[in-house]
Amino acid sequence: MTSHASVSQPSTLAQPINKSAHAFDKVMLDAMLARRFFFAPAFEIYGGVAGLYDYGPTGSALQANILDAWRKHYIIEEDMLELDTTIMTLSDVLKTSGHVDKFADWMCKDVQTGEIFRADHLVEAVLEARLKGDKEARGVKEEVEVEEDDKKKKRKKNVKTVAVKLDDEVVAEYESLLAQIDNYTGPELGELIRKHKIVNPSTGNEMTEPVEFNLMFESNIGPTGQIKGYLRPETAQGHFVNFARLLEFNNGRVPFASAQIGRSFRNEIAPRQGLLRVREFTMAEIEHYVDPLDKRHARFAEVKDVKLALLPKNVQSEGKTDITHMSVGEAVAQKIIDNETLGYFLGRTQLFLIKIGIDPERLRCRQHMANEMAHYAADCWDFEIQSSYGWIECVGCADRSAYDLTVHSVRTKQPLRVQVKLDQPRVVEKLECTFDAKAFGMKFKKEAGMLKETLAGMDRDRLQCVKDELETGVASVKGTDGKSYEISSELLKIEPVTVTEHVREFTPNVIEPSFGIGRILYSLLEHSYWAREADKARVVLSLPSLVAPIKCLIVTISQDSQLRTLIHDISHKMRKLGIASRVDDSSASIGKKYARNDELGTPFGCTVDFASLQKGTMTLRERDSTSQLIGPIDTVIDVVDRLVKGTIDWQGATEVLETYSGVQDVE
Ligand code: AMP
Repeated sequence: MTSHASVSQPSTLAQPINKSAHAFDKVMLDAMLARRFFFAPAFEIYGGVAGLYDYGPTGSALQANILDAWRKHYIIEEDMLELDTTIMTLSDVLKTSGHVDKFADWMCKDVQTGEIFRADHLVEAVLEARLKGDKEARGVKEEVEVEEDDKKKKRKKNVKTVAVKLDDEVVAEYESLLAQIDNYTGPELGELIRKHKIVNPSTGNEMTEPVEFNLMFESNIGPTGQIKGYLRPETAQGHFVNFARLLEFNNGRVPFASAQIGRSFRNEIAPRQGLLRVREFTMAEIEHYVDPLDKRHARFAEVKDVKLALLPKNVQSEGKTDITHMSVGEAVAQKIIDNETLGYFLGRTQLFLIKIGIDPERLRCRQHMANEMAHYAADCWDFEIQSSYGWIECVGCADRSAYDLTVHSVRTKQPLRVQVKLDQPRVVEKLECTFDAKAFGMKFKKEAGMLKETLAGMDRDRLQCVKDELETGVASVKGTDGKSYEISSELLKIEPVTVTEHVREFTPNVIEPSFGIGRILYSLLEHSYWAREADKARVVLSLPSLVAPIKCLIVTISQDSQLRTLIHDISHKMRKLGIASRVDDSSASIGKKYARNDELGTPFGCTVDFASLQKGTMTLRERDSTSQLIGPIDTVIDVVDRLVKGTIDWQGATEVLETYSGVQDVE
């Protein structure tokens, strides 16, 4: 695979920077990330545990800077209400939200060795391997297929490929299955395994039927072990259980958003692909509460022209992966994206990802297909980022409707609703539900409250449909748990009534952008990585200064004690300005010092030499172009400060400082 890093040319440069001179080398990147301690397997000296990683100094700083950019982009820019809720979560909360019953993946076992696979990943890996074998048997070059089949290239590890030519219909069938692989239920995956004779690729043994495996880590709270809890699998529930306080904090008005950065835990069946599928990870989640009858967004105009690469659900269900490039405005107008608020967050998220350095060419928005989407969700889009692992979901943007607040409200009997005082009282014709309370309670037991709440939340048209159905003696009503319930006309009457309303009351809908920070961080590392044309071993991380772990390297050309004192003085001044800088006063050559910092992504380097002592000057080097400027030490520090704050770019720096051609003159 060739690097997608582009050819760019800062204005002070004579030669363009060729970032794609060398093919992307994952082995070299991994070695560098380990050597420079971006991240490493947790408990490595004990042999490690799959899916658990520690971040080192560089990885931690990079993550902290991504999170800082995220806080500014969302929480500060949009005045969101920040939360920090507990990781240990009461089991009742997760029972109500549906996680205890439904937060599961399908797994199957090798009937003889007991080796465990995630069923969808196994089917995907085996079918991809067969397609690859087919291509080899047909003599088609792999590169030809790379563009089309990138999504399917993921999850290929450990699968042996045998070059077998398949019938054209079989190829078409496999391709169609793979385009919809996220859409299958467990029994459907079982059927695929049987139909396509899928076995354990390493042993050739048959597989068991897929069974559900809940991904939450269970725990007990307190010494008696009677209070059950779980490590949270998402931060979202912590927002919802605090909704009443948040609403009050916001003076009872919607729309508003809460936001939270924190750890989540998922006991993944088969963690793999480094940071991409782990058991403990940092999430950044926004819950935006909105009137269900008005999902417009006040700042929509700011993002309506942002162009997105869309992969809508209807295209995928035809077994295709064709992308439509469209502005947020057009996609919402054409109802491809359900509403303005969802569109707004897709636009803002794209801007965020590009700002921190994700390559826009390797970013797409994939809509969830029907089975894939949580049953309560109105619409859901994933931001997928392409890396050597294929297209990977890094941010999920879902319209969770009123589901979470409704179920928590029913369970706790707390009104998680918004009241809007009407300017003028209004006389309205409504449909009112009356229940035969005793019989209704006996029939539906613990579901009775949820069903009443579901009916109370229906708009007039839907309620009219239920009323019409009741005329036949029984109506089928879909509860917030996704199941259908048969309600007879003896238990429920729906009649028109005329009422005067002074307030309107509703349960807000929730639009949720949910970011997996580790996935974004790893994708960013791949997108930023390249090697200098002249030497494959001289690798560079072109991280934007905004997120680079260290912003400025400070070095001296010699070990002279005056110069060593000077670089520590410069470092002190930079620290006072809050610039993360690093002094390298080792005896390594300047070239080596630059190279060591290029691979950490340090965007700027300041160098002092004897001219600095005599003339008070210092040079400033830009990482990607290696071009250099020179000026008085304090002016250079000020320029670095402005570059790091983003108030000027390199072009701006060239207007303040002079081009440095080589050696500083010493009179
Ligand atoms: P979800 O709630 O499943 O939509 O996940 C939200 C986000 O969390 C995803 O977009 C991913 O970025 C991230 N994520 C989910 N599962 C994992 C995992 N096992 N390892 C790393 N990141 C994950």
